[in-house]
Amino acid sequence: MLTVRKLVKVYAGPVTALAGVDLDVPPGMFGLLGPNGAGKSTFMKIVSGLLEASSGDVTLDGDDILADPWKVREKLGYLPQDFGFYPNLSGERMLAYLLRLKGVEAPGGTKRLVGELLERVNLTFAAKRRVKEWSGGMRQRLGIAQAIAGNPRLLIVDEPTAGLDPEERQRFYRILAELAEERIVLLSTHIVEDVAVLCPRFAVISRGRLVATTTPGDARRSLEGRLFEGTGTDEELARIRAEHFVTQAVLVEGNNRMRIRVDHGAPPPGFAPVVPTLEDAYMVMVASANAPAEVAA
Ligand code: ADP
Repeated sequence: MLTVRKLVKVYAGPVTALAGVDLDVPPGMFGLLGPNGAGKSTFMKIVSGLLEASSGDVTLDGDDILADPWKVREKLGYLPQDFGFYPNLSGERMLAYLLRLKGVEAPGGTKRLVGELLERVNLTFAAKRRVKEWSGGMRQRLGIAQAIAGNPRLLIVDEPTAGLDPEERQRFYRILAELAEERIVLLSTHIVEDVAVLCPRFAVISRGRLVATTTPGDARRSLEGRLFEGTGTDEELARIRAEHFVTQAVLVEGNNRMRIRVDHGAPPPGFAPVVPTLEDAYMVMVASANAPAEVAA
């Protein structure tokens, strides 16, 4: 279990990136979902032992990560948001280099470990190709290979699917899901689909605070019977916004298609009930953090 208590991070400025976060993360896949600037990367770096917190506690199975990051280091694997590669190295040489940097022990030899790790993330076929010829998804999988070296209890992946095409994303999801069978995988993302596909539980973070810790099913059910869809002009959209919370407004053939939450009374004329999505629920959760009185309901 990863346990986070009263975690605060204030950068010079001052910018309060984390304003007192409490979180318990059990084994398996757990999502940390939030908009850009919410504090996700800050949280992930602190939990990885790479960034000092201003105050608070983080423990992994009872070991204090903040007090003694070096002691806990081999139990942690981290894939940062921006992962640097030497483009001219082959995949296997790049990975061998990363393992040496990390100080990973390889009783059977580095070559063997590199082979096993590449196999684990389905990259054996590209081992001898230069990394600059690889796709974004292949590079992310190489990042995962270095992160899981040493079989860490906790794998921390920061916004790993941004920039991957749909097929690469699916492949990456499968690897993460497999890895989560035997450890804690903490996944930060601003992409709701990542959570919908992968995470039985997730937390929503906004402006440095946790807004909710829930399951995709419970989040959707919180809107059941209250979500309606219809179309209208810009003026109608403005009028509806004044009365209802709009979870989505997109242009379709020049008109606004809106999804709205109706808390009291009948929906506007022409609006029909729809099944809430996780995206709808997420919009409500983030907005309720910013304007609790109006939106939380
Ligand atoms: P996210 O990963 O959710 O996009 P971050 O953790 O990167 O959020 O950032 C949270 C807040 O902290 C933002 O307001 C960001 O501008 C600020 N921030 C991040 N890193 C620094 C830094 N090194 N110095 C000052 N402010 C920072």
